Amino acid sequence: MADLPVLGVPGIESHDEDEPRALPSRAPVAAERGRYLIHTWGCQMNVHDSERMAGQLEALGFSQARGEDDADVILLNTCTVRETSASKVYGKLGDLRRLKRQREHLVVGVCGCLAQQERDALFTRAPHLDLVIGPRAIPFLGRHVGTVLERRERVRDTAPHVEAIGEGSEESLRQSFPKAYLTVQEGCDKFCTFCVVPFTRGREKCRSMDVLVAEAAGLAERGFREIELLGQNVNCYRDEKGSDLADLVLAVAEIDGVERIRFVTSHPRHLSDRIADVIAHPKVMDGIHLPVQSGSDAVLARMERDYTRAEYLERVARLRSVNADLALQTDIIVGFPGETEADFAQTLSLVEEVAYEGVYSFKYSPRPFTKASKSFEDDVPPEVKAERLERLQRLQDELLAPRDAARVGGIEDVLIDGMSKRSDQEVSGRTSRNRVVNLPGGPELIGMILPTRITETRAHTFRGEPVGPPR
Ligand code: SAM
Ligand code: SF4
Repeated sequence: MADLPVLGVPGIESHDEDEPRALPSRAPVAAERGRYLIHTWGCQMNVHDSERMAGQLEALGFSQARGEDDADVILLNTCTVRETSASKVYGKLGDLRRLKRQREHLVVGVCGCLAQQERDALFTRAPHLDLVIGPRAIPFLGRHVGTVLERRERVRDTAPHVEAIGEGSEESLRQSFPKAYLTVQEGCDKFCTFCVVPFTRGREKCRSMDVLVAEAAGLAERGFREIELLGQNVNCYRDEKGSDLADLVLAVAEIDGVERIRFVTSHPRHLSDRIADVIAHPKVMDGIHLPVQSGSDAVLARMERDYTRAEYLERVARLRSVNADLALQTDIIVGFPGETEADFAQTLSLVEEVAYEGVYSFKYSPRPFTKASKSFEDDVPPEVKAERLERLQRLQDELLAPRDAARVGGIEDVLIDGMSKRSDQEVSGRTSRNRVVNLPGGPELIGMILPTRITETRAHTFRGEPVGPPR
C-alpha cells in the first residue's frame, strides 16, 4: 500500500512501506508501567494491527514514548511484500542493537510478516531481540510483553491462532479518526506466484458478520463516520453463516452514524455482480482498489492471477455501469520474470484504457517461498525495471493531470480527517473518490463533512473552499 505519512496524520493512501510510521498514543494513563514505541511498515492492515497492539499496551498501563530514547518497549510491525521493505527493517534492527547495548532493560520486538517469515532465525540474526510475534499472534502481544518483562525470557509466537482472529479488535487505539479500520478477513488462499502474503499471514479466515456489525455500531457510537473494511482479498469475504461482502456492507450501511464505507483490497476474479451492485449504495464511496498487476495475458498467466486482461476490463465496465464516476486505483508490478517490452506495452495501454485515479507501481522482487522465486528466473535487469517503472508513473501522471483539472470548479463532499501537512491554517480531508483536498479551516472541523468547491489541483492533491455548512 506509497510515501507514508506518520500514522494518525490524515492521508494514508500509500502502498509504499519503505518509510516506517511511529504510532502515537493517547494521554498517559495513571498506573504507568513504561513507555512504548511502535514503528509500522506496510498496508492499512498493518496500520490497524499497530492500533491493536497499542490498545493492548495502553490497557496494561504503558504510554507512548516521545521517541526511541525514552522508550522501554520498541516494536517493529513489519512487511515483507517487497525486498526493500524487509531490508529497511533489518536496518532499523541494527540501530536498535546499539540502543539495547546502552539500555539493557529495553524490550525489542519484531511483529508482523517478517516475524512469521523468519521465525527463530530472527533471534540468531538479531540476538538482541526479545519478541518475535507473527501477525496471527497479535491478540496475545500484551501477554507476551508481560512475560518478557516479568521473566526476562524471550518469546516467539508464530502460531496460526485461528480461533483468535480479530480478538480484542474493539480495544484498538484508533489513530485514524474519523475513519476506522475493521479487519474482516485475515490471510489469503490465492497464492499468486509473486506473493509472500499466504505464507506470512496464513490461510484465509473471515470474522463473523454479527461480530463485525456490532463492532462497527460501537465505532459509530464513538463518532467514527467512515468504516474501511479490510481484507487481502476482501471480496472473497464469507462468514460461517454464508454472508458475503455485499451482505456485510449493506448491514454496516444500516448503522446510524456510519456515513461512508470503503472496502479494500478487491480481487478482480471475485468481484461478483452482487458486490458491483453494492457500489450504488449512497454510503459506499465512489472509489475502489482493484489491483491488475499487469496488462499482458502472458504475464497474468505466469502470475496465476486467475483472470485475463479482457476479463479485468469487463469487470471495470460492469463497475462503471453501476457508477459512471467511480474512481479506480490499482497495483502494478513491472519487471515480472519474462516480461517483454511488448508485455509492458500492454500494461501501458491498459492504464490508458482504464483511466485510473491512482496507480501504485512496484519493481518485481523475488520473495521467499513463492512459486515465482523458485520456478522463474528474475531475468528483467534492474535498470529495465527502473526504466519501466518511471515510464509507467510518467504516463499515469500525464493521463491524470487533465482529468484532475476538469474537476476544478466542481463541488465535492470532503470528510475532514486532520490538519494539512503544509499549513496550520488549513485542514485536510478526502472526497468520496478518495482524493485528498486541503482547504481553509481549523481543528474544530475534524470529523465534519464539508461541501467543498475544488479550486486548484496540486501534484496528486486538490485545494478547495467550503461552500456550505459542515455537517
Ligand atoms: N491482495 C492484493 C491483490 O490481490 O492484489 C495485494 C496485496 S499485496 C500485499 C500489495 C501489492 O504488493 C500487490 O498488489 C503487488 O502489486 C505488490 N507485490 C506483491 N508481491 C510483490 C513482489 N514480489 N514484488 C513486487 N511487488 C509485489
Ligand atoms: Fe498476494 Fe495474490 Fe493473495 Fe493478493 S490475492 S494477497 S497478491 S496471494
